[in-house]
Amino acid sequence: MADPTPILEAPILEVRDLKKHFPVKKGVLRRTVGHVYAVDGISFTINEGETLGLVGESGCGKSTAGRAILRLIEPTGGTVKMMGQDISKLSKKELRPFRRQAQIVFQDPFSSLNPRMTAGDIVGEPLLVHGVRGKKERNERVAALFDRVGLRRAQMSNFPHQFSGGQRQRICIARALALDPKLIVGDEPVSALDVSIQAQVINLLQDLQRERRLSYLFISHNLAVVEHISHRIAVMYLGRIVEYASTRQIFTNGQHPYTEALLSAVPVPDPAVKRQKRVLQGDVPSPVNPPSGCHFHTRCPYAIDRCKVEAPLLREIAPGHHVSCHLR
Ligand code: SF4
Repeated sequence: MADPTPILEAPILEVRDLKKHFPVKKGVLRRTVGHVYAVDGISFTINEGETLGLVGESGCGKSTAGRAILRLIEPTGGTVKMMGQDISKLSKKELRPFRRQAQIVFQDPFSSLNPRMTAGDIVGEPLLVHGVRGKKERNERVAALFDRVGLRRAQMSNFPHQFSGGQRQRICIARALALDPKLIVGDEPVSALDVSIQAQVINLLQDLQRERRLSYLFISHNLAVVEHISHRIAVMYLGRIVEYASTRQIFTNGQHPYTEALLSAVPVPDPAVKRQKRVLQGDVPSPVNPPSGCHFHTRCPYAIDRCKVEAPLLREIAPGHHVSCHLR
């Protein structure tokens, strides 16, 4: 796979203290008895032409974060700025121009495509919704998008079930590109694909980034996949970012014990290099009642008493390298 594109220091997306807490309701009166702290105060930026990988085990809140950023679900708190404008409080109408600028590609291309629409109509739908009324112009733009993502124009009249998994994800990418966005959120966009197809789709995303100066928030549970496409990586655990650094810093000098455990599970291509495997004990605790202090203390091999009572802050330990751990 090719190296990631060089980036410009111009933030497309600035996320500050983003929170998404879901109420837990019980009883006949549906009283709120608690909250699921799915996203609990995360902050990061994504520059023009940059990919930020957001990684963590399933249930850590990364997909919820992606949806809250795009306001597919309403955040509980925090701000989201796109190209300098705070979009977190905009009304639906005011939000409309920003909807064009930020698109999402989901994990399962089959369930995210309407089985009763042709592939051409699926890709052309955002154009229609955003005012490209002329059928001829729409068809031309859809055909160009099919060319660009490696599909044949003749396939525009086919239905989703007539495509392979990789081709269906190409349809989703073409649809996301239709309105010429600045940012694409990929929510596990290659996780459902075979390994060889994953590489093709990642190469396509990288080529598109180079051509269009696209920015990506690439959400994945797989650190090895994220390594290939990301300029920087944010590691998430139970609703919080525990480490945030360049991809090189994470892979050569990952500091948080959770990052260490995730890294130890990444295969090393050189058989001469042996990585000590650290198997994490247990599952991610419930975000309804997260552990006190450092959320990771119930699984951390280095935990000390302080970890149970005091939540560590995310501190910059080296330029651009942020870690949330009392011992770093
Ligand atoms: Fe482990 Fe304590 Fe660091 Fe949390 S703060 S990661 S429990 S050592």
